[in-house]
Amino acid sequence: MDCSSSDLFETEFESYGFSRVPKEDAMRAVRFMLNYAEDHSIILRGLHPGRPPFAEVSTWKLPSSTNKATVWGLYKDAVKKLGAPVVELIHFKSMWEYFLPQIVSEEPQTDLCLQCHHSKQKFREVSCQFRANRLAQVGTKLLELENLGLELCKISRERQQHADLVKKENFLYQEMNAKCGMICEDLHLSLGPSRPASRKITMSYNFDFAQEVHYPSDPQHPGPMYFFIPRKCQLFGVCCGGMPKQVSYIIDEGMLPKKSVINLMHHFFNNYGVGETCANLNSSAQNRINCLLWYCAWRMMHRLHLKLDLHFRITGHDLSGPDLLFGLVKQAFRKTRVQTLSDIAGVVRDSTPDKQLNIPQLVGLEDGTVLVETYDWNQHLCTRYFRPFPHIERYRHFSFDAQRPGMVVAKEHRDAEPLVFQLLHNPDVRPSADIPVQTPPGVSWLRQRYLFDKIRKFCSDEVKDIICPPPKAPRKKTV
Ligand SMILES: [Zn+2]
Repeated sequence: MDCSSSDLFETEFESYGFSRVPKEDAMRAVRFMLNYAEDHSIILRGLHPGRPPFAEVSTWKLPSSTNKATVWGLYKDAVKKLGAPVVELIHFKSMWEYFLPQIVSEEPQTDLCLQCHHSKQKFREVSCQFRANRLAQVGTKLLELENLGLELCKISRERQQHADLVKKENFLYQEMNAKCGMICEDLHLSLGPSRPASRKITMSYNFDFAQEVHYPSDPQHPGPMYFFIPRKCQLFGVCCGGMPKQVSYIIDEGMLPKKSVINLMHHFFNNYGVGETCANLNSSAQNRINCLLWYCAWRMMHRLHLKLDLHFRITGHDLSGPDLLFGLVKQAFRKTRVQTLSDIAGVVRDSTPDKQLNIPQLVGLEDGTVLVETYDWNQHLCTRYFRPFPHIERYRHFSFDAQRPGMVVAKEHRDAEPLVFQLLHNPDVRPSADIPVQTPPGVSWLRQRYLFDKIRKFCSDEVKDIICPPPKAPRKKTV
């Protein structure tokens, strides 16, 4: 802060009227904020209607772990050492907002909720305009100021409504998991093969895909590997809301066709389900597909469940699901040398070494051997029997009942009006229980060739012919 800015500060200070704070103390506090931000923030160049004399045409981003109160704590300790009076937190915050609005804390990074993202951006833009108008042109643009104020109120109201909805929806999942937890504890349940609909209980299952991993992978990552795409492996998790266990499906490249979520859930119910009559299935919105609705209706018709509720969580506000255990897998994966699918299974199993919460399930082997049978659900369910649910993307809760085959009751949110829809073209014509088996698509010839040419050199000798064998189809001859 130079001399001219000090003068400006005095003028500003007078006009704002921090009557309770002595000027000298206020100046010391603002100087501390500025110096701290200079050392700890990242400066993003761009127009910001900051306040002279300290404003810059840029935004200063402090780490998300730092807020005004933490900086005030540091300031307080420093001022005490000087033996000078401390400006109270409330005044410290007001002065920060008034003199240094361009210094902000970075928001913590989470999955993106588009609605939150847009309304946050809009709020920021309008409040910047509002602040700039209020400070720079008091009295000249009162009407504009009033309109901006009204817009801010409107955005705040919408944000509050969205936050209320999120709270209500998340409470629903917490409630389900808590109830399920009590049942599991009372009956000492564990995941394992059980006869379908053999226990009159309600269970909650959360399922979702994780980000894919690549193998071979080495913590001492050889530099050139960054230029290539090694063999891909997808992870899909199903966890029970009532017990801290998760089945993690390890899906090698080419092992599953599209819409494979149904195959995996079908395998889970047959091999790990506890035989409940009623189930709550919770997932992220990316799995909201018609084929999954048809599959639920099909289970009802064959009385594999008597009641099924399918819920899709709000993206970006997801508090349940398999993400936690996937995070542990990712952490372990980064530290372990992984050459084959069984190494990945080992990483999944050892991601919680003491409690073994993560159960690995290979969907197939590198040579194409199938361990989780693939069925042609799309062919079996959709073509002749079922019809798509209209505007499926608007709805978040779907209920199925064995008493009403083919019927689905859908709601946009927990308290919304239900919509009843018949999924079957003809309620008297229903798909049979026998589903045609499908051969996995396998690794494409182009990818086989790529793996052989580019990735094979990164594999150890023992696994070279397992992960990157010579391509099975002959190379095309160029003329
Ligand atoms: Zn949101």
